[in-house]
Amino acid sequence: MELLKQRILSEGSVVNDQVLKVDALLNHQVDPELIMEMGREFARRFREERITRVITVESSGISVAFATALELGVPMVFARRKKSVTTDSDAYCERVPSFTKGIVTDIMVSKKFLNADDRVLFVDDIIANGDAAQGLVRIIRTAGAHLAGMGVVLEKTFQAGGAAIREQGIRLETLVKISSLSDQTIRFED
Ligand code: 5GP
Repeated sequence: MELLKQRILSEGSVVNDQVLKVDALLNHQVDPELIMEMGREFARRFREERITRVITVESSGISVAFATALELGVPMVFARRKKSVTTDSDAYCERVPSFTKGIVTDIMVSKKFLNADDRVLFVDDIIANGDAAQGLVRIIRTAGAHLAGMGVVLEKTFQAGGAAIREQGIRLETLVKISSLSDQTIRFED
């Protein structure tokens, strides 16, 4: 998505070789028009999959997942991050390390909002090592739902998450691929 690349260049900043700050676009402020554009693009790519639910992880995936769900005309569910480890029999829970916070959190989805007959599109903001994504993939599989694919706004291809998802045979579509953040410079793939 050319427009998104331009916005990342003008409004993003390199924190270090591993981390890109995109607070102005995804992680603190959101531009509704740009988010809707992303939602339309994911909806276009996955429309033939007869998606019944879009799913994401709170909080930064919510805006783009919402836009995608609106375009597809289906509900959007966000996995909640729980503070306690207590198992909830009415929810699917998985423990995942947090890339940015450096801690482990538990994510949960109520059994009410994910069923075995669902065809799920998983939408997220950024994929780095893929730990958050793998946690949610496990939840979708435990629920017995069909994972039709994954749409992620930004893939850092120098980290292993995207490749690991594709190696599992999951269709992963990303809008922008970043190949490097070294030397304080954002480099795109292609
Ligand atoms: P992963 O589990 O793939 O390692 O990291 C996923 C989550 O960590 C993303 O949903 C995103 O919120 C956060 N994250 C990972 N890398 C970056 C980054 O370079 N910049 C920002 N702002 N967040 C990131």
